[in-house]
Amino acid sequence: MAAGRDERTAVVLSVGEELLAGDIRDTNREEVAAALRELGFDVRGLRTVGDGAEEIAEAVTAAAARASVVILTGGLGPTEDDRTRHGLARAASDELVFDEEELGRIADLFARVGRAMSESNRVQAYRPSRARWIENRHGTAAGLRAEVAGALVVALPGPPFEMRPMLAEVLLEDVVGRFGPGAAPPRVKVRAHGLSESIVGERVREFMGEGADPRVGITVSGGILTVTATSHAADRASAERAVEAVGRTVAERLGPNVYGRGDVTLEEATVASLRRAGMTCATAESCTGGLVASLLTRVPGSSDVFLEGCVTYSNAAKSARLGVPAETIERHGAVSEEVARAMAEGIVRTSGASVGVSLTGVAGPGGGTAEKPVGLVWLGLRVDGVTHARRIVLPGDRETVQLRAARAALDLVRRGASGTLGVR
Ligand code: AMP
Ligand code: MG
Repeated sequence: MAAGRDERTAVVLSVGEELLAGDIRDTNREEVAAALRELGFDVRGLRTVGDGAEEIAEAVTAAAARASVVILTGGLGPTEDDRTRHGLARAASDELVFDEEELGRIADLFARVGRAMSESNRVQAYRPSRARWIENRHGTAAGLRAEVAGALVVALPGPPFEMRPMLAEVLLEDVVGRFGPGAAPPRVKVRAHGLSESIVGERVREFMGEGADPRVGITVSGGILTVTATSHAADRASAERAVEAVGRTVAERLGPNVYGRGDVTLEEATVASLRRAGMTCATAESCTGGLVASLLTRVPGSSDVFLEGCVTYSNAAKSARLGVPAETIERHGAVSEEVARAMAEGIVRTSGASVGVSLTGVAGPGGGTAEKPVGLVWLGLRVDGVTHARRIVLPGDRETVQLRAARAALDLVRRGASGTLGVR
């Protein structure tokens, strides 16, 4: 073990010119890092390098000097540009040897699918002489495990569906086998909708200082706020109690904007609150084109509470399907409080649902005016015989406006069903 290196530290290396060029998203490194974290590893670096053997060797050497586990993905294919095995051999001061047995496995694989093996696949039977294979059940590129300067270095193929099961195997057999079982530091996530990052930051400020434990962090994505409390306290039981307590305090301070804990989605929380209330729901959408209905129906079991969705994009459809008076549209415009209210009332009337939600807005990029800018969305909600309306102006491009508007509608339904509409 190199000096100054903690036992449970890791570096993740992605190999491929296509990653450097930004042609594909590096999902492997996110998955590998998350999996290592779950085993209690401190991931100290995520690095991307091109396909050159020399740069791969340099990256592996540098990573092995600072981490006890190094996981690479990519560059194990049969083509000339796949040189991870060469880089690994160089970093391990080893040489590549041809493994007849491995070639046999590759040939079998081709025989099983009834295709001829190409000459270029031979390269996949080369490994650094002291490295060991990791079986790939979904492709020809076997993985490699090697030792570099006392660190465990693992190379996995790039395609995510091949990488994933091999990673699971390596973590279980090699990593846990060598470093023992471990767990991520206890963590609690509180999810909220409809609050700005700065407001949340002010309400939980005392937990966010450097050195605070539990330490609270805030992330925002598409209108959804996640507040995470993590404790690194040495005693696990007290760390768990501490994050629980902070999680509760955070949830109290954010009030009814909180829709759940952990990895629950807003649509799941919305379905759950409808179910708890014994209510059903129907949607009348314009600018979101059915996204609210689509999000709701992603939740298994949503058929218990979701009856139907109507995409009324044209003025005529709003009148014909939902009974919005043509005169109302003419006088106030399609994007207006009056139309949103009439749409919500119309969908409740025609569907028989106990909750009706509606949206009408300007998703952009064109169509905005000074009075009705891009991002303006009127939401309507009909619940318990009362119609409510909300005006929001959302930042972002068309897709972002649509997603955030859809989430605002889901949250309105959730709060309508849980009786927390007026609560601050
Ligand atoms: P390779 O193993 O380098 O031949 O990669 C084969 C394919 O796997 C690439 O063309 C990508 O589609 C995919 N791939 C490689 N690296 C990654 C990565 N880091 N994240 C997601 N997909 C990847
Ligand atoms: Mg490649």
